[in-house]
Amino acid sequence: MADHPITVEATLAVHPEEDRFSRLRLIPWWDQQKISAARIVVIGAGALGNEILKNLALVGFAQVVVVDMDHIETSNLSRSVLFRASDVGSSKAVSIARGYMDLLPEATVHPIVANVMQHCGLGLFEWADIILAGLDNRETRLWINRAAWKVNRPWIDGAIEGINGVARVFPSGQPPCYECTLGETDWAILNRRMSCNLLLHEANPQGRVPTTPTISSIIGGIQVQEAVKVLHSLPTLASKGYVFEGLHHTSYVVEYTENPDCMSHYTLDSIVRLPQRSSELTLEQLMQLGRTDLDTQEVVVEFSRDIIHRLVCPRCGATEDVFVPVGAIDRTRGLCPDCAGPEPQVRIVQTLTSYKGESALADRTLDTLGLPLFDIFTVRSATSEISYCIAGDAAALLGPLEADTKEGR
Ligand SMILES: [Zn+2]
Ligand SMILES: [Zn+2]
Repeated sequence: MADHPITVEATLAVHPEEDRFSRLRLIPWWDQQKISAARIVVIGAGALGNEILKNLALVGFAQVVVVDMDHIETSNLSRSVLFRASDVGSSKAVSIARGYMDLLPEATVHPIVANVMQHCGLGLFEWADIILAGLDNRETRLWINRAAWKVNRPWIDGAIEGINGVARVFPSGQPPCYECTLGETDWAILNRRMSCNLLLHEANPQGRVPTTPTISSIIGGIQVQEAVKVLHSLPTLASKGYVFEGLHHTSYVVEYTENPDCMSHYTLDSIVRLPQRSSELTLEQLMQLGRTDLDTQEVVVEFSRDIIHRLVCPRCGATEDVFVPVGAIDRTRGLCPDCAGPEPQVRIVQTLTSYKGESALADRTLDTLGLPLFDIFTVRSATSEISYCIAGDAAALLGPLEADTKEGR
């Protein structure tokens, strides 16, 4: 045999169907087409995000949006397979998208360099078939959980610390959800993150959790495997957690209990896609649309999240209209410029969560409220509701993947 090694040509002759995914197709239930067509949103491009995206690329997910606001530091390189030393200083989302397409050139990966809570409209979540998160904080997880519930999408969470980790699947509209799992300690940490007047207290200590590439590989691997199973309607870790303790190599599945008072369990009734951009619609026009569709005059327009619309100085009474996302104002910006001196005055933050027909707001276009593009607004009456996705903004968040939404499915 040594004189007659099998050549490449001979191998191809024996296996004419060989391609990149042919070994995956040998799994009886595997549907490569389903994977390739699935729309995936990954939030977080850190240690877990790298492993999640690496696996998504290897199994052939071809439509991916990745969201991360941070830039790459040298210390990230020990846990990030898709980053190169030359990427230090670059955006994590942009670099990871490039790394993804190096692995799978036929994929379209759109990076969003942003804070998902402030800058991503709910239209992004509605676009997704599955949302995967590789985060290091409860605040963003809680936000994703509520957003996923509103648009009825499943999400898969991963968390790592040291050489331990947990992966969990939260199916659409089915408790117990992530918020149901939160205990007193979690809420204490969550509440500490934001001061009572909504000014951001201190620099975000994210990205300092001690982790290894090995535990992120294990947990990120489970997350993507569960995503593949969700897509194929196979049994998953639905509303459960898979815990892996690296020190004693023990693993087990935890079951969660539904919290009947959980605030997350709310799914929008119906979502209508409007072709306009948010710059082409005023609050009053949107309200009018809702009045017509709901066939009643008594309605309010609810926002997807609170916005800070005004800062008021309790000392001198000066007010400043701002219209920015909650979390966008730090302590320094919150101080009254008119009361400078040895004892600066912190201003009171006023937030808005809906439009009730106030004349001062009526003519504001939807893009000037401090809400993100491609967002969803809900018009509600006493008895019914209708939600509008501002789909004219889709390209702003989906980039080249927007073309696919026009064709529908
Ligand atoms: Zn819940
Ligand atoms: Zn003042």
